[in-house]
Amino acid sequence: MNVIFHALLGLLLAKLFGISSMPSILMGVLFSVFPDFDHIPYLKKAFRTGRFGVESRSPLHELVGLVLVLLGSLLVKVVWPHLFLLAFSCGLSHFVVDFLTRPCRPLYPFSVKKVDLNLYPRGLKEMFIWDAILTATLGLIYVIITTVES
Ligand SMILES: [Zn+2]
Repeated sequence: MNVIFHALLGLLLAKLFGISSMPSILMGVLFSVFPDFDHIPYLKKAFRTGRFGVESRSPLHELVGLVLVLLGSLLVKVVWPHLFLLAFSCGLSHFVVDFLTRPCRPLYPFSVKKVDLNLYPRGLKEMFIWDAILTATLGLIYVIITTVES
């Protein structure tokens, strides 16, 4: 899924946990988007070929990334115990959303076995359209929740 969707989901999770301080919210958003930082070295190739395949994901995006999210969340728990659930759920949400919408290699680098739940379109155009619809829907939900709250 795209990075905007992940960031919006982090914002929504912060709302769900009643977190309102900006640094804490940004920490949640960082946990939501950080697994995709490994795409940066592949951006040039991905835009040239028009695809972000599983090969654009380093070990940081799969099993190792999940372990890093857990370790990072435990570090957050030591420093700011009240933010542990936010950090862990934001980090975990990234892997769950990507697993539901993209082919993944869950045990990479120990196994290159690709898992595709086939719940999401694979054509680039259809994938882009569904990403845009889901991202806009999530953005709308966030706007409605923040508007109702204030
Ligand atoms: Zn991702």
